[in-house]
Amino acid sequence: MSVTIPAPPANPLERVLACPRCRGELDADLRCTACGAAGHRQGRRLHFGGFGEAELRSDPLNRLKETAKQRLGKLYPAAISALAPVLTRDFVRPFLRSFDLDAQLVVDLGCGTNRYDPRVACVDGGSYANVDLVTDLRALPLRDGAVDGVVSVAVLEHVPDPAAHVREMHRVLAPGGRVLCFVPFMQPFHASPHDYQRYTNAGLATLFGDFAAVDVRVGAGPTSGLLWVLQEWLALALSFGSRRLYRALVPLMWVLSPLKIVDVLLARHPEAGVLASGFVVEARKGA
Ligand SMILES: [Zn+2]
Repeated sequence: MSVTIPAPPANPLERVLACPRCRGELDADLRCTACGAAGHRQGRRLHFGGFGEAELRSDPLNRLKETAKQRLGKLYPAAISALAPVLTRDFVRPFLRSFDLDAQLVVDLGCGTNRYDPRVACVDGGSYANVDLVTDLRALPLRDGAVDGVVSVAVLEHVPDPAAHVREMHRVLAPGGRVLCFVPFMQPFHASPHDYQRYTNAGLATLFGDFAAVDVRVGAGPTSGLLWVLQEWLALALSFGSRRLYRALVPLMWVLSPLKIVDVLLARHPEAGVLASGFVVEARKGA
């Protein structure tokens, strides 16, 4: 009896690669023919820089997340959505359904351990098992206009220069290409591996100002905003100055998380943005 092992699917990013430094052509070994910058392959995965192990493990919350991601693998997003105080609307899948994923290239920038669809390319600074391209998201090794869609969920708050990331999204998108980002507004500090800023809806419209059409809407509602803040406040107030006790108390406060269900209604309030846990921005690049 013969056993046929199916070949792994080709990496869809192979056909749109360019030098991350000078946009020159790359040879078969991923070396730039113009400036010499180089990436390398690990199986079907492409590597062009990215995070070091030390950086990913430098923060206690992030160490916990990294350990959970490695232990839980594909179950990690489900565990987070059950325990987290934030109820997010399902905004990614409707966005993905608006593309022909068999013909169009959509990339998830900052995917973490998540994969929405086998046809959506996973890009991250960390080399998780699902990642197709490990890279600095500010300097993508992709050609100008090579991408039809970009997804970026809960990434921009974790980078020191979000405008550089948005410029890079704009560069790799084809004319008429679209981006969908989720970014937090009312959320406590959460490093992964760092945490730098929050956004109002007007701030997002400005950040995506180079795009032709920008739509900002509530992605996670006011109850989510309140609950996470309340959980952190309770852990602080009940730990009497002890960092160890505070860290032990935070997971206990997740018992309050089911109250987030109130956002099924409250996130639809016309003024929900005043306390929204996060916003979704959808923007289209001009022709
Ligand atoms: Zn180059």
